[in-house]
Amino acid sequence: MFDYDLFVIGAGSGGVRAARISASHGAKVALAEEYRVGGTCVIRGCVPKKMLSYGAHFAEDLSEAESFGWDVEKPVFNWGRLRDLVQTDIDRLEGLYGNTLSNNDVTLIEQRAIVSGPNEVTLANGDTISAKIILICTGGWPVPASCEGAEHAISSNEIFHLEEQPKRLLVVGGGYIANEFAGIFHAFGSDVTIANRSDTLLRSYDQEIVERLIEISTAKHMKLRMNAPLEKIEKLADGSLKVSFGDGGDPDIFDIVLVATGRVPNSNGLGLEELGVEMSANGAIKVDEYNQTSVPSIYAVGDVTDRVQLTPVAIREGHAFADSVFGSNPRTISYDNIASAVFSSPPIASVGMTEAAARDKYGDGVNIYRSDFRPMKNVVSGRMERGLYKMVTAGDNEQVVGLHLIGPESAEIIQGAAVAVKAGLTKADFDDTVALHPSMAEELVLLK
Ligand code: NDP
Repeated sequence: MFDYDLFVIGAGSGGVRAARISASHGAKVALAEEYRVGGTCVIRGCVPKKMLSYGAHFAEDLSEAESFGWDVEKPVFNWGRLRDLVQTDIDRLEGLYGNTLSNNDVTLIEQRAIVSGPNEVTLANGDTISAKIILICTGGWPVPASCEGAEHAISSNEIFHLEEQPKRLLVVGGGYIANEFAGIFHAFGSDVTIANRSDTLLRSYDQEIVERLIEISTAKHMKLRMNAPLEKIEKLADGSLKVSFGDGGDPDIFDIVLVATGRVPNSNGLGLEELGVEMSANGAIKVDEYNQTSVPSIYAVGDVTDRVQLTPVAIREGHAFADSVFGSNPRTISYDNIASAVFSSPPIASVGMTEAAARDKYGDGVNIYRSDFRPMKNVVSGRMERGLYKMVTAGDNEQVVGLHLIGPESAEIIQGAAVAVKAGLTKADFDDTVALHPSMAEELVLLK
């Protein structure tokens, strides 16, 4: 009766997973993508960012190499070379994602598609295709600046393709993207300023941990301009950008202005309002716990639903959708205790409640344990940076309801500990676990 059982719009993490698993359950699947297979995470997000972050780490390692017996000639960083190497690897990954689709008999349609009926999509070339189920996985899009001269700023989409490394970089915003790129370009040798509209960075993270990041960043001469909303960007004759802020301070001159002030659901112009699909004010598609919209044949997963804007969440939602709709296994996913990390320098990692959130919920029943330590590698190299691990417990049995880390490799360390928090383990369970020595992770079972 229909051309396809499932038509997926958007080949990002959620869409590719949903298409592949639905096909493996026997569904006839097509997927439309207007840009590149892989979506934000693979093409212009997590993956290339992590590669740049690896590149940035060499700055520290090379500067400390002498303390570990190595003589290294004055190292020189070549932005163009790293940029091109990263893009070559992204091409490779895009190919692998394409192979995954074809190996699973998913028909890839490299065009924009919009929804033109409860069971119909229309492609950019005017063709219409019918499908029993339509799944929207169009992700999110950076919020552009709204000040005068905003057209001179770039977003995280463009930062991976810069012709030249900026000597002076302004990063606007205080969230994930701002802190990650500030750390990366500072390590490459750029003069980096972060300007944030409020006095709070990384609002959803434990603020004691964020304070430590601020201390370390300012000690490294990264500039932080708080309560400094962007007012105006002017392009000067030499191509540099003169930026005015609403903090009463002087304007400053930069080569690149990166705006990282959040991402909104990418649902505009998809034909959804016309069909009566319910959406939030910011364009998020409203779905139930089974990812179904208010129009029963239309589903949505990932950032376009604005639940938790993280790749592994989109992947889980896509997988659960496929199992529920085509695998005779209706299931939902749990949004509790999702571990997350900011790949700042040093990285921050977290799972569960911040101290403030726990105190709101449990009042006096909260206890805090900390380890404030200097990683062994920093002691040997003479680097003064200290790590900080913090545990939040609640109730008489001291269940661990939050873990918050800043320090080298903290993103690698939190994942294992997140299993313990998810399982509802207690401070006594952590204390009963013998330390693995010497490591930074051992601080988790030595908290006082
Ligand atoms: P975030 O939501 O992390 O942070 C947005 C920042 O911009 C906040 O500091 C916010 O301030 C500020 N802001 C919001 N609106 C305005 C405005 N109108 N003017 C000025 N400042 C404003 O957004 P990002 O863009 O950094 O990242 C988007 C999402 O992408 C993240 O939420 C995350 O889910 C995902 N991501 C995840 C990564 C990871 O897992 N490592 C890495 C990169 C992105 P305030 O706090 O005052 O609202």
